[in-house]
Amino acid sequence: MITLNEHFLQLQKNYLFADIAQKVAAYKEAHPEADLIRLGIGDVTRPLAPAVIKALHEAVDEMASADTFRGYGPEHGYEFLRQAIVAGDFAPRGVQLDADEIFINDGAKSDTGNFGDILGTDCTICVTDPIYPVYIDSNVMGGRAGEFANGAWSRVTYCPCTEQNDFIPALPAQPADMIYLCYPNNPTGTTLCREELEKWVAYALEHGSLLLYDAAYEAYISRPDVPHSIYEIEGAKRCAVEFHSFSKTAGFTGLRCGYTVVPKQLTVRAKSGEEVQLNQLWNRRQCTKFNGTAYIVQRAAAAIYTPEGRTQVKETIDYYMTNASLMREKLTQMGLKVYGGIDAPYIWFKAPDDMGSWDYFEHLLHDFHIVSTPGVGFGPAGEGYIRLTAFGTRENTLAALERLK
Ligand SMILES: *Cc1c(COP(=O)(O)O)cnc(C)c1O
Repeated sequence: MITLNEHFLQLQKNYLFADIAQKVAAYKEAHPEADLIRLGIGDVTRPLAPAVIKALHEAVDEMASADTFRGYGPEHGYEFLRQAIVAGDFAPRGVQLDADEIFINDGAKSDTGNFGDILGTDCTICVTDPIYPVYIDSNVMGGRAGEFANGAWSRVTYCPCTEQNDFIPALPAQPADMIYLCYPNNPTGTTLCREELEKWVAYALEHGSLLLYDAAYEAYISRPDVPHSIYEIEGAKRCAVEFHSFSKTAGFTGLRCGYTVVPKQLTVRAKSGEEVQLNQLWNRRQCTKFNGTAYIVQRAAAAIYTPEGRTQVKETIDYYMTNASLMREKLTQMGLKVYGGIDAPYIWFKAPDDMGSWDYFEHLLHDFHIVSTPGVGFGPAGEGYIRLTAFGTRENTLAALERLK
């Protein structure tokens, strides 16, 4: 008889954004005249860069001719894109990688969620709290999270990031095998400096842990002393994989492309005693379960690394970061203590008067017609906080700030 992967039944209610969408839809139905401004979900609003559009058109034309048509591509991505990534994202920062340490994918959500496929189901998990929900939920599905009680999973170590520690997580108090770090951080918009990242790399090397480093917002870093890649830290190639995405970098949320770095130096000891390269194992996994992301989309991604592409992508990032600094400025003037928005397109602040996250979310929705994201949706330490995104249009961002004044 067919049975279920019962771990899926352990998942806690809805996915955060589904909850929000439901509440917003219900409000909209009751108040069809309300002009809602959506600063909730982290989706971009600016169109793709002209260089990306040009590359897409050219690639489509290639598909129209028998001479240049492409069918299945390499599972781990085309060489032209992997080379462009190595040369564009890593070499300038003094990080030497081989193209076969880069795995092109259809976005970072897939690989942050799938990477556990090649790791032991007995591994313990560590996350900073609040955090992108995919890290925990994918491990619940994989049977690693333990039992859920009092708002937390028994086999997950939570490292709180709050005003009290200036959003700098302490190292885990219990041994942790798989450690998820996301910097610049979604949802708090904060970063870690080099010395802090060095502590995590040292911890991972000492305890034999794996860092799963999500650098989806790396392109938004503005301060010169904030590392863009965990591999800028000595020793990280022996203890870290890194996830990148073109979604936030270049507006690819609808196109779907990103990449995962799995250094060849990174090995894990099998029960037999053999040192196994994660690079080989991940390659094997991808070749079996993934057939590559679309050729035309990989051509579009490669266009980001051309001089025009770079300039255009930078302009869009500057547009969002101008939103972020306007939000920081105006919300601070209103007396709120505001975090993030300097190296990441998220603004994070504490709801006034000790209001809970969901109460404040409802207040913003009902009284100002602004859709936000309740901080507690990202984990217990997010309670009492609110996230706003800087991915809105300038017009909507200014209109929202005007309403809040
Ligand atoms: C948006 C986001 C991603 C990227 O997701 P894609 O699947 O590439 O669109 C990854 N990690 C975090 C933390 C994000 O916020």
